[in-house]
Amino acid sequence: MTGRDTLLLDQGYQPIKVIPWQRALCMHFVGKVEVLRDYEWVVQTISTTYAAPAVVRLLRKLSSRPLHVRFSRQNAYLRDNHRCQYCGIRCGPRDLTLDHVVPRSAGGKTTWRNVVTACVACNRRKGRESPEAVGMKLRSIPTRPDWLAPRLLHVGEDSVPEAWRDWLH
Ligand SMILES: [Zn+2]
Repeated sequence: MTGRDTLLLDQGYQPIKVIPWQRALCMHFVGKVEVLRDYEWVVQTISTTYAAPAVVRLLRKLSSRPLHVRFSRQNAYLRDNHRCQYCGIRCGPRDLTLDHVVPRSAGGKTTWRNVVTACVACNRRKGRESPEAVGMKLRSIPTRPDWLAPRLLHVGEDSVPEAWRDWLH
């Protein structure tokens, strides 16, 4: 997929998401976006050749709703670097679980502030207790992530096309 998708920026040059280049080109044709950077490869139609858009920017403002990172299992693992927040071990997603710091049975909610990544062993050890009750300590206070764009966009850092670099900080 690298180099075949287009990075969409909001009016203020902040990355929003990755879209297929076809869609980016359509948005460009109808005047919704401006193209900030092209790829080196081109798109041929019967009559014309277009450079494939690598980075486009919306010309109009999005609704002013702040862009929240949606809570999800995958996003929680990413926030915690795939690291158990109790023992610190790093695992693949299959060996990780989500742990409610304040257990659900005690009214704990499934939110950024109450859910952490835990390895299977730690999750089992903690059971339905609070960390204090079983003598376990969190390595960090869970918060809503304030992310680097590539993570927000679900793009691995090494698969970011060169053409996007200037807009991802
Ligand atoms: Zn652990």
